[in-house]
Amino acid sequence: HDMDVSTSQAITTICPFCGVGCGMTLQVQQSGAGTRLSGIAPQLNHPISRGQLCAKGWSTPFAIDAADRIKTPLRRTPGGFQPISWAEALKSIGESIRTILEEDGPQALGVISSARATNEDNYAAQKFARAVLRTNNVDHCARICHSPTVAGLKQTLGSGAMTNSASDIEQTDLIVVFGADPTENHSILGGHILRAREQGTRLIVVDPRKTRLARIADLHLQLRPGSNIALVNALLAEIFANNWQADQFLDARCEGLDALRKSVARTDADAGAEVTGVAPELVRSAAREYSQAKKAMILYGMGVTQYVSGTNNVIALSNLALACGQIGRPGTGVNPLRGQNNVQGACDMGCLPNVYPGYQAVAEEEIRNKFARAWQVSVAEHAGLTSLGMTLATLEDKFRGLILFGEDPVVTDPDQTRERRALDKLDLLVVAELTMTETAKQADFVLPAASFAEKDGTFTNCERRVQRVRKALPPPGEARADWQWLGDIARELGSDALDWESAEEIFDELAALTPIYSGMTYAGLDREHGLQWPCNKEAPQGTAILHSDRFPIGRARLIPVHHVEIDEPADDEFPLVLTTNRLHFHYGCGSMSRKSPLLERETPDGILFINSFDAHNLSLSQHSPVKVSSRRGFIETRAIISDEVPAGLVTMPYHFREAPSNRLTNNAMDPVTKMPELKACAVRVEPLPAD
Ligand code: SF4
Repeated sequence: HDMDVSTSQAITTICPFCGVGCGMTLQVQQSGAGTRLSGIAPQLNHPISRGQLCAKGWSTPFAIDAADRIKTPLRRTPGGFQPISWAEALKSIGESIRTILEEDGPQALGVISSARATNEDNYAAQKFARAVLRTNNVDHCARICHSPTVAGLKQTLGSGAMTNSASDIEQTDLIVVFGADPTENHSILGGHILRAREQGTRLIVVDPRKTRLARIADLHLQLRPGSNIALVNALLAEIFANNWQADQFLDARCEGLDALRKSVARTDADAGAEVTGVAPELVRSAAREYSQAKKAMILYGMGVTQYVSGTNNVIALSNLALACGQIGRPGTGVNPLRGQNNVQGACDMGCLPNVYPGYQAVAEEEIRNKFARAWQVSVAEHAGLTSLGMTLATLEDKFRGLILFGEDPVVTDPDQTRERRALDKLDLLVVAELTMTETAKQADFVLPAASFAEKDGTFTNCERRVQRVRKALPPPGEARADWQWLGDIARELGSDALDWESAEEIFDELAALTPIYSGMTYAGLDREHGLQWPCNKEAPQGTAILHSDRFPIGRARLIPVHHVEIDEPADDEFPLVLTTNRLHFHYGCGSMSRKSPLLERETPDGILFINSFDAHNLSLSQHSPVKVSSRRGFIETRAIISDEVPAGLVTMPYHFREAPSNRLTNNAMDPVTKMPELKACAVRVEPLPAD
């Protein structure tokens, strides 16, 4: 009998959305009709998510099962995109790359990898750039979220990552949420904070908006956008004036105390209030609570990093934690909340123009030699271009070919009009994606990528936990893992540098070259729920808390930093400040979350949050259509009147291609990391006739 016997299997893997890294199982059904995803469930014993997923996690099947998945390579023609074979695509891409290499050299080419892809894909991307193209022009979207974290914490602590672990939220006495909205964006972790609060943990929220956590906080320091440093320096001034600093810790483990003390001596809570708008008594209370708590941990987000002063903002938070000895112990630390599922991993893998995997500096000859020997190629001597550097170089006719996957800079990067102009100018734009994005629409070639459920690999979450991602389904049509098609292009160019048989083989290569991963194998990751780096001979079980005994740089550095005004304050022409935010039901550019009818039902389009005072002045009512303009363009959307935002400030999520807030945002940059100031620009809001 030909009875169709179907079997089902549960595959353990990791949520593909945010950096919390919740554990999930994909239920797959195999039958004569093929293999299909039949369900999804949280992993009950996962150390962070413990049987829970947020709305985005539960919606994962919609993201990978989308009806509009790209299934074959596509070539752009005057009549639109036409399907072509892999062989044709690879031949044409190879020819274009060779032409650019011959005419302008490797500096005219670059790769933008993906914080959504696996570590193995990201390792392959930077190796492709460095060992095949021979350029350090490789970057990814950490540039516009936590590049100041990497740069800032590397200088002060010697390591640019979360110092503690998610489980520390339950062990601390005081949580400081600084410029982050974890109940919206890192929901499972946000839930841990809510539970800790219920059980009596003190909570301080520093945010211009009255977020859900701000409403239940013991103290809400509602600072003006861009005044982070002024606030932290006022806190430090109060701490030093009252002798609340941790003298023993400072003596034993830090340097630069005198300079820091001197630099904040001229300020105090009253002087700081002029810049920050935060009442001095709140600053005094926060300074006392944070410095006197036995254990206090700072969790921060893009309200710290996305400013022209992003790197210095991070340094300021590090100064605060070091001055109070709130680091290197359970329940303490400086903890960046990384946005994307594998943005930590993409940084760890060296998809940054100045570092190889494991943050090993391109500038150091010994490191360059190490990689040149291992890869048996000569490597470029100088750091490469950042993603925005590639955009600017394109506009100046110095950059011609870009290979990009799993990112949608047209929606996520500042000044969308300029971004589109730059992409249009490229001689070669290759985009690998699951479905058509705004960026893919501008590509010369679109390649079909495998989703996280269709390949093996690892993701590294925000607490440095490297976790296994497992193939549950065959990729649709001719889709391939990113490391596979990158290997195909490399072979087309005559290089065998990416000739791997499996994701595990890549992991073994990267672990051998990356000291913080060197103690990890797939077998080891399988035994535990992943391992936290550094994991090596000294720490074979991984490291839950960084800097317990020593900092990688010996003594931690206190570095004085000073307030810098936002680049584009409000004025008569553009009288409101716009800040961008994210919503619980959506994620990044929306290319995955917006495939879910459930998530779309919750928030189907762009919105502008505006305070009732400003709304009244503009004669707006709830859901009024509005035009929002900045010096770079305008969009039309609807107003939500909400006292979550103070008067003078409006906020917009950036997930919606129909109302792209990044058409308005400012491209002024942090001088150290080239992080654009996405958190503040001047806008004008005008009512539109009701439809
Ligand atoms: Fe996924 Fe993040 Fe939600 Fe966890 S909190 S289920 S990782 S989106």
